[in-house]
Amino acid sequence: MPQTPAPAPLTAAVDRAVDALLPELVEFTRSIVRIPSLPGGEVAAQRAMAAKYHSLGLETDVVLSTREALAGHPAFTDDGIPFVDRLNVIARWRGTGGGRSLILNGHMDVVPPGDLEAWSHGPWSGEVVGDRLYGRGSCDMKAGLAAAVFAVQAVQAAGGRLAGDVLLQSVIGEESGGVGTLTTIVHGYRADACIIMEPMALNICPVHSGALTFRLTVHGKGVHASLKPAGVSAIDEMIPLLQALDRFNADRHRTFRHPLYADAENVAPISVGTLRSGNWPSSVPDLAVAEGRLGVFPGEDVGDARAAFAALIADVARHRAWLVDHPPQVEWFEGQFESGSTPLDAPILRAVSESHAAHAGSPPGLIGVQCGTDLRLFTRHAGIPTVMYGPGSLTHAHAADEFVPVSELVHCTRVLARTLLTWCDQ
Ligand SMILES: [Zn+2]
Repeated sequence: MPQTPAPAPLTAAVDRAVDALLPELVEFTRSIVRIPSLPGGEVAAQRAMAAKYHSLGLETDVVLSTREALAGHPAFTDDGIPFVDRLNVIARWRGTGGGRSLILNGHMDVVPPGDLEAWSHGPWSGEVVGDRLYGRGSCDMKAGLAAAVFAVQAVQAAGGRLAGDVLLQSVIGEESGGVGTLTTIVHGYRADACIIMEPMALNICPVHSGALTFRLTVHGKGVHASLKPAGVSAIDEMIPLLQALDRFNADRHRTFRHPLYADAENVAPISVGTLRSGNWPSSVPDLAVAEGRLGVFPGEDVGDARAAFAALIADVARHRAWLVDHPPQVEWFEGQFESGSTPLDAPILRAVSESHAAHAGSPPGLIGVQCGTDLRLFTRHAGIPTVMYGPGSLTHAHAADEFVPVSELVHCTRVLARTLLTWCDQ
């Protein structure tokens, strides 16, 4: 469906409103970066977000994530964080009726800052130096949350009234598997489309790979190291399995092609993250355990990915005398993330692209990413076409001295505001 351009006077008024709100936008972003919101500890930051939504006169719900509500859902994975005070905040700017509705979704949880010595600007400082606003969660993704609410504020300030509803969602639990967004879905919040303001450096991202956490266990036969031939080293049996995983990774990438992934060799990587074995230097180890993540290609069924992995392990084991009788065990635990994608001809993709182009003078880049995000929950489990578009770069997310360029924060706010005008009035 072609997009009808928004009436120019309102667009211009919204642009002016963003200009006028700029100091407040930056100050608000700093204020929420200064509130630590580590997984399980997001209450204070979420209360601040709820207060901001309230201040704009939005209908604001606080929805708790509970195990009871989520446990039966096929996309639920227990992230091990106690279900205590896990608040999601959902604000609705109710439209006048008849237009398309839109969700602007972002996560308030941030990953730990890691080694504080590695930061030259404190992780909870919200310090602004030049064009950079520093802090854990600045780009991933409090700036995105701020851009969304200020886009609404700018449209309001310009006197705009939209036909469709706008839902602003500030959720928890994204970094550990998506409990917050799943909560909004289970509670029935829906719209005609969704934008997640993840740090895509103002590219549009409609597709991400999945990832399945695995544990591979190999049993050996422990003996004194001086009698090694009488035993079986679990390490020696594990090594060929790990080597096979490397080949498996390369083979899987040889046949998969997707236009939005720049690095065709690294769309859905397999990586071993932990390896444990042995308890004494001069014992032959009787146990080796490797844990890692198996990447899932966009469109690949997670059951098929698991089956291919298990078949590979079984094939290696068939060629090793010890492993024939003592087959390695494969377990799937913790994060089990499907891939997610929205078709390239989806109207929401075009709407964001046109808003970006109208403001920037050229269309945005289109990219796919390797990391799992909440996009999959919207597309697979709520039937909502969803794209990611937000300020800051994934390169700086989860790193020391994480920052968001203030210019991108402002740019994103403008593009979201323009998208509200074109999308919600259709
Ligand atoms: Zn994120």
